[in-house]
Formats: sequence, structure tokens, C-alpha cells
Amino acid sequence: MNIFVLNCGSSSLKWQIIDTDLEMIKDDSDKMLAKGLVERVGSQSLITYEVVGGKKVKMTEALRDHKAALNHVIKWITSAEAKIPGINDLSDIAAVGHRGVHGAERFKRSAKIDKEVIAGIEDCIPLAPLHNPANLKGIYAAQEIFGPSLPQAVVFDTSFHSTMPEETYLYAVPYQLYRRFKIRKYGFHGTSHRFIAYRYRKLNDLERDQVNVITLHLGNGCSACAVKNGQSLDTSMGLTPLEGLMMGTRSGDIDPTVIEFLVHNEGISVEEAFNLLNKRSGLLGISGLTNDMRELIDEEREHQDRRATLAIDMFCNRVKKYIGAYIAEMNGADAICFTGGIGENSVEIRKRACQDLEALGIKIDIKLNEQAVCGKEMKISTEDSKVAIYVIPTNEELLIARDTLRVVLNAPRVW
Ligand code: AMP
Repeated sequence: MNIFVLNCGSSSLKWQIIDTDLEMIKDDSDKMLAKGLVERVGSQSLITYEVVGGKKVKMTEALRDHKAALNHVIKWITSAEAKIPGINDLSDIAAVGHRGVHGAERFKRSAKIDKEVIAGIEDCIPLAPLHNPANLKGIYAAQEIFGPSLPQAVVFDTSFHSTMPEETYLYAVPYQLYRRFKIRKYGFHGTSHRFIAYRYRKLNDLERDQVNVITLHLGNGCSACAVKNGQSLDTSMGLTPLEGLMMGTRSGDIDPTVIEFLVHNEGISVEEAFNLLNKRSGLLGISGLTNDMRELIDEEREHQDRRATLAIDMFCNRVKKYIGAYIAEMNGADAICFTGGIGENSVEIRKRACQDLEALGIKIDIKLNEQAVCGKEMKISTEDSKVAIYVIPTNEELLIARDTLRVVLNAPRVW
């Protein structure tokens, strides 16, 4: 069955078509057929579409909103020009799966979209004022374009973390604030952490409750997750994605007094202070150069830029701190799994983040680490490392497609 996976941001629309069914899921033979990205929705949009093993096209066109963008995508995928195997018209799409960002406490699982689910996503808007309205735009556009009879599902970034116990998800602030406003840690990147934990389980032929790993999603956004007995026990992002690891432009953990200090001493508003912590901090803020890890590593190597090195060292140090904290919280982990653009591709960052962790039983194999760059799943720890280290490429879209299929067929979730 062809599942159309849709990931709508405030001004972007990413899509994939994935061919999957219950048998294909069992033997991991389900596959992506085509994908694309529309950026700058609302103005002169930049459009990239690609059919696997075939055409890649780039174009620009004025697309005024998400509905216009989705219409553009649909017109292209059903055109003779695209030639996507098995896709001739809209009836070849069996269901639509949406990436949902914030499901708060309401959505512990992926859900089939109906009026109630839409109302639930709307209720979560105060917790995700940028992301949830974008998700809703995608859902409305898909309902209009595909028609009301095509099943649609939503897979939330927060759901995997719904197993966190109170002592890890609560902030040490007056308990009434949790009661009144549901202020707590929710965590994000859940679909990625779940996928990585699932792949680790498959690679090692384990039962779900035997999975005790620390998953590290290191991309432009970064988060760590302590997966104990197959469930999220703790994760580094919080009420919003600002908390936790140092990221491309986000500060990660910080003393909140910094905000008060900035408001009083820099004369900026609270909103501007948060903008600074979200958009101008992290790797970009420290290096003063870029939020792109690849560029920082090049700067360090080619120009010995001191602040590029500082940004990289701070980034790796924060990763180490979370590894240590989660090993303690989990009473030991069997493996650390790297994923995301940096985690999957950067030999240097994996090396520096795992360096000098022998006391915790973590030893990286320098040669294997250097080989793990081609999007392959690989173990990169030494034979005698007590904690294994893996590189596992993430595939959130595949998990969204699989969950959508299961939700639509009412089949049990494997993970
Ligand atoms: P993502 O958000 O998962 O797409 O990851 C984006 C981040 O991955 C950016 O900081 C990129 O610079 C980084 N990245 C991608 N490839 C490499 C690489 N070969 N070495 C270092 N960083 C990389």
C-alpha cells in the first residue's frame, strides 16, 4: 500500500511516498518511492522533488499556502513526468500519515484522524504555538485534496516519551503548575528515538523489554533518550525543544536567570531573549560562525579557529554529561546509538563524544568509527567495550508510514 507521509512546518512541506504492508514490515522490505520538499510556502516557493532511482527536479513557483503547496505536489506525483512506480492517480494512495509535533498528555499513541483528534491537536496549541497549527494546516489541506474518505493518521513526536515516570517528567516547581497548566517535560524526536531503539532490537534479536540503550539524535536539533526495558525513561528535551543538549542554534540547558538578566541588562523583551536562546545560541552562538557542524569541523581543521573548537568541545561535553547521567539513571546501559545528521555522519564528533569514557565501560573503535559514514547500521565499539556503540541512521518517515498503516488497518503496533 502506498502511504503518503506529510511533514508540515510553518512555511515548509516535506513529503514521501512509502510502499508498505504488514508483510513488508516484517522483513523490512518496505521502501520509499519518492520524496520532496517545498520551502518558503507563502511566497516564491523553492521546490525539490525526487523519484528514487530516477528524476530529481527543482523549480520555483508562488504557492500561497499549504493547500496550494500540497496541490502542487499531488499534480506532480500523478503526472506522467514523475513516473513513480505504482502511482498513476490519487486512488493509488491508500492513506496519509502526518508528522505531529506536540501531542501533550493526550496522545500516547499514533491516532487515526477524526474530528476529536483534530480538536485534541488544537487543544495542544498553547504548548506548541508554532508547530501544531502547521500540522493542522497539513491535515486540513490533505482532507480537502484527498477527500474525506481517505484515511489519515497522525504520529506524534512526543508519544514515545509518554512512558516517562513522574519523577523524570516533572520540573521541581510548584506542583500546582503541573496541575493547572500541564507544565512538564514532554520530550521530542520521539519517532526517531523509537525507530533507533527498534532497529537496535532487530539487529540484536531481542524482545522489546530487553532493550536498554541511550539513543542520541544529533542533528540541527539534538536530544538524548534513556530507553529502559524498551520504553522512554527520560529524555533531554523538555516542555519545548529548547532544553537539553547544545544544538545548532539552541542553547540547551541553561539557568533561567539568564533570561531575567538579559531582560534587565540588555533591554530586550522576554520574547527576544527566548529568540536569542532558540535561534542565535548553540553552535552558532559560541562559534560566531555557523550552526552547521560540518563547517565548524572544517574551520577547526583548516584554520584552527579557536571558537569553532570551543563550540565543538562544548557540544561533545554536553553529550558526555547526558550519557553519564542516563547510565546512572538506568543503572547501566547496553549500548549508545548515534543518529541524526551529525550522529550518522560525523566521525569526529562520535570520537570526541565517546573519548575518555572508559570509566563507564565505553570504548570506541577508531577504525570502525571511520568506516561508519555511508548511511549503514554499524557497531563501532571495541570488542571489550562493556557498553556497545552503534551508528543507526534514523528514518522517521518510515515509522510514520508503518504506524499509519497499522492505525488504518487497526493492526497492533510492534513497537
Ligand atoms: P539534521 O538536522 O539531522 O539534518 O542534521 C544537520 C546537521 O548534521 C548539520 O549540523 C550538518 O552539518 C551535520 N552534518 C551532516 N553531515 C555531516 C558530516 N559529514 N560531518 C559533520 N556534520 C555533518
